[in-house]
Amino acid sequence: MIIAIDGYSCTGKSTMANLLAQELKFKQINTGLMYRYFGFKLLQNSITSKNFTSKERDIKRVISDVKINLDELEKNILILKEKNVSEIGKLIAKDPYVRDKIGSYINAISLNTNIIVEGRDIGTTVFPNADYKFFFFANDEIRAKRLCEERGNTDFEETLKEIRERDNDDITRENSPLKKSKNAIEIDTSIKNKMEILKQILNVIKR
Ligand code: C5P
Repeated sequence: MIIAIDGYSCTGKSTMANLLAQELKFKQINTGLMYRYFGFKLLQNSITSKNFTSKERDIKRVISDVKINLDELEKNILILKEKNVSEIGKLIAKDPYVRDKIGSYINAISLNTNIIVEGRDIGTTVFPNADYKFFFFANDEIRAKRLCEERGNTDFEETLKEIRERDNDDITRENSPLKKSKNAIEIDTSIKNKMEILKQILNVIKR
């Protein structure tokens, strides 16, 4: 079985995927971490969001060697969540080769096990036939507050601006932009707490 959770950044997708994975004993896959990992590998090779556009050949060389290992991603989650990794992650997410590589990897995992996959294009591109699809959104200010708390950062206005820019990047990306799949169930995570959302999703699945 495949459960897809797509939606805007900082809407609680990972928290919910984690709760569902525990409840249903499914494997949880956070695809955002995969894009971040590719970005992190570029940073390790001195390719940053500042010199990104001039390093086309080096980017290809680095990413063709990257192997994704889910345990490795979880181990490095704090580094992968840093702002400099977010910045290069969103650039690499535009690359069709990277999207394809990540899509194939997720598809391969889905052959062996039940999964809960979260991202931006899971219900639309990676698993258009997923068994259940959910689409998370939330108020911008609430999301900025969450991100500030997660980072231990107090610059609310700057964080709000960053969130809005990320939304714009996600929606306007040429390859697999963020959009609600036709048959996804929309959930506003600013008006419900996580236990209410968990109950709502479990009700849908059990039904
Ligand atoms: O969700 P998170 O912020 O960790 O995602 C990191 C980057 O990867 C973001 O720029 C996001 O747009 C991109 N992404 C994507 N497709 C996905 C998951 C994440 O393009 N399925």
